[in-house]
Amino acid sequence: MSEQIDPKKVMIIEDNQLNQKIADMIVKQLGHDTVQVYEGKKAIEIAKQEKPALVILDIKLPDASGIDICKAIKADADLKHIPVIVITALSSEEDRKQIVAESGCDNYIAKPFLPHMFAEAIGRYIQIRSVDWGL
Ligand code: MN
Repeated sequence: MSEQIDPKKVMIIEDNQLNQKIADMIVKQLGHDTVQVYEGKKAIEIAKQEKPALVILDIKLPDASGIDICKAIKADADLKHIPVIVITALSSEEDRKQIVAESGCDNYIAKPFLPHMFAEAIGRYIQIRSVDWGL
């Protein structure tokens, strides 16, 4: 992969080690850098420091609700322009609509996800390298 794109910072807020690792790997394959955050409470502070181009946010965190974190991002003058993609295991259409309405997120990815679906969601907000996931 030699395709040149401008690397951006993508913040991944996810407590699950494996999901965090997979998301990190996918984002890096797409040509970007990651800021990995495992807990919710510090997320807003870190977002203000790092100024990511995109946030990927797990809904179920041990110390905070992803919905509340998303609301806080969207209520903050410095952060609200940042697209937020929520990751959720809640899979019914009804549940998803409710999360989008409640959190104000820009998009969501349902767990379990396949890399190309994850990539497609990211590619709506930042330029990505084309990757053959072998699927
Ligand atoms: Mn979680």
